[in-house]
Amino acid sequence: MTRGISASTRVVGVIGDPVRHSLSPVLHNAAFAAADLDWTYVAFHVASGMGAQAVDAVRALSIEGLSVTMPHKSVVAGAVDELSQDGRALGSVNTVVRRGTKLVGESTDGPGFIAALEEAGFDPAGKHCTVIGAGGAGRAVVLALARAGARRITIVNRNQDRAEMAVALGGGVAVHGGPLSVSGADLVVNATPLGMASEPADHRDPTAPSEWTAQLARGQFVNDLVYRPMVTPLLRAAAAAGATVLNGLPMLVHQAALQFELWTGQRAPVAAMRIAALDHMSEQS
Ligand code: NAP
Repeated sequence: MTRGISASTRVVGVIGDPVRHSLSPVLHNAAFAAADLDWTYVAFHVASGMGAQAVDAVRALSIEGLSVTMPHKSVVAGAVDELSQDGRALGSVNTVVRRGTKLVGESTDGPGFIAALEEAGFDPAGKHCTVIGAGGAGRAVVLALARAGARRITIVNRNQDRAEMAVALGGGVAVHGGPLSVSGADLVVNATPLGMASEPADHRDPTAPSEWTAQLARGQFVNDLVYRPMVTPLLRAAAAAGATVLNGLPMLVHQAALQFELWTGQRAPVAAMRIAALDHMSEQS
């Protein structure tokens, strides 16, 4: 059932720059309708450098919470009143939740990533995992894999400082930067935007089919966090090699479901969110 907006409708939204391509309004509004909640979710275009002011606006307007996407995740972590354990460890948040008079920063990317793997039947415990990319998503993935008991995590990133920040999140798990090699990895995760429809084709793209993708093989699990397009060059190469493949849509759905639960205190209607996302993607293709 879809409700009309009234004076009692509660508001959440996503801040980002760019934001007009975001699937989050589709996912969350489908969830509010399925749960029959008088809530609505909108996309706020917040220019780079204005993240802290957006958090002040949440306070002033009594908005219930936010999803936070690029480029605001770190600035918002510094602008909220409190951080969750993951938000503190990562120095970045993808969620703001109102708790009484305080705004709390949380990160649902890592738990959403693990939920997507679990749903696909992959358990990272005891596994060798290679993560390409050490930005916000890559670091959340590394922290989540370490918590889930990965035996070894290899991080590959262009910028060495960011690679080291990811290494620091791996705890006691052996982690290092290094040349792109995936032989021996049980799980390969692309946490860079490379392969996205909006990214220009680039012969330096480390996820484009090349020498290292030739190492992909049956028995490996390859998760591209990109979901637009649903089949990226990496996933096409991995599937051709006989690997099991997963795109970024399940993680997107699960990190959003966890946000829904943080904001509303109710169990998320995950199936309705997934159907809305898939319908939207198929309308666009
Ligand atoms: P970010 O913080 O900006 O990090 C980007 C990462 O990609 C960095 O490691 C960066 O390397 C690397 N990179 C960018 N361009 C590159 C290039 N030309 N060659 C090699 N490496 C390159 O972004 P993010 O928030 O982590 O997001 C990364 C990707 O994950 C995006 O595609 C995003 O849409 C996706 N994502 C998906 C979900 C989901 O739910 N499915 C959730 C979050 C993010 P340097 O450090 O060397 O610059």
